[in-house]
Amino acid sequence: MKPSTGRNFLHTPGPTNIPERVLRAMLQPAMDFSDPVFLDMTRSCFVDLKKIFRTESEVVCFASNGHGAWEAALVNTLSAGDHVLVPQYGHFTQNWAEMAESFGIVVDEIPGDWRHAIDPDAIEQKLREDSGHAIKAILTVHTDTATGITSDLPAMRRAIDNAGHPALYMVDTVAALGTAEFRMDDWGIDVAVGGSQKGLMQPPGLAFNAVSAKALAACETATLPRLYWDWQRRLEDAYYRWFCGTPPEHLLFALREGLDMVLEEGLENAFERHQRLAEAVRRAVAVWSRANALSLNALNPDECSNSVTTILVADGYDADALRITAREKFDVSLGSGLGRTRGKAFRIGHMGYLNEPMILGALAGTEASLEAAGIPHEKGGVDAALEFLATS
Ligand SMILES: *Cc1c(COP(=O)(O)O)cnc(C)c1O
Repeated sequence: MKPSTGRNFLHTPGPTNIPERVLRAMLQPAMDFSDPVFLDMTRSCFVDLKKIFRTESEVVCFASNGHGAWEAALVNTLSAGDHVLVPQYGHFTQNWAEMAESFGIVVDEIPGDWRHAIDPDAIEQKLREDSGHAIKAILTVHTDTATGITSDLPAMRRAIDNAGHPALYMVDTVAALGTAEFRMDDWGIDVAVGGSQKGLMQPPGLAFNAVSAKALAACETATLPRLYWDWQRRLEDAYYRWFCGTPPEHLLFALREGLDMVLEEGLENAFERHQRLAEAVRRAVAVWSRANALSLNALNPDECSNSVTTILVADGYDADALRITAREKFDVSLGSGLGRTRGKAFRIGHMGYLNEPMILGALAGTEASLEAAGIPHEKGGVDAALEFLATS
């Protein structure tokens, strides 16, 4: 292994850079988890998580990754034999749907090409056709981390309302939370799934469900087996229920510090920063793409995500070799293609704790790697990013 001689530039779209402040917050002894100091801190995290999700409803926190919070969303609201509507829009809708199938839930799919956002009209049409209301929930993803595309959540809400359909509206915002506007209550979202290690700058290991009153009511009739993931148990007053056992104390120390940082910056400012850095990345990709070996996966510019950019690599060139060169030679960690794009794409994550020189460093390392890996690209991508950042 190459000895470390400087920072690794972590641009996998999760996990992301953990700020020193957050790391230091974890450097303390474990404590009695019934200590009022600890309970107050934990309560304050729940209060602030509601601000992040923009909700007055409950937020449940799990010592798990995002997959755990997916499972929690399903088992608390659904029964075997229920139908869910899933627009096939990327790797993460697909995987959430596969999880649902494993519980005996019937998945009704809307096909998609992984290069466009979810089509709200297709949702409306499917729901109109379901006059018997067999569909109990719609599973959607805010930003698909494989495709680098963000969907229009309020438009989907309008589609559900236009169809007059009572299905629960469930949204995985794991890769968007903290990087793009998200309004649980205003947008009528019933279950929001979030994770710690993406836009929120946290270590991996915490995941969240924000839960509307309507979703909580669905617990009463949902018959999928659950205990560890049970929202109602976790929302009891007794503190040992909040995490169904020992709380992940150090992850909560980290969360407290990270939430402070997010609120100090201000959510709106964080969204703007993400959008700006994302645009710098896209300016670089646009220049590199002129040599016809690379292209943005997102076909509509206004659907590009603030948090990750997916770049397709033409047949005959090896996207994984590029990633290995970037990691081994330039200490830049890029994301691989996932699912349908495995081996055919690479991804530049740009979410969380990140500023201009960090993104420029990553783009410079990527441009050097394109050269070293022999992938045709027009030079000057970094210059274009620099120019954009200098003048915007
Ligand atoms: C990362 C991610 C997940 C899965 O989270 P894990 O913590 O890896 O289980 C789910 N959905 C989206 C959109 C993601 O980006």
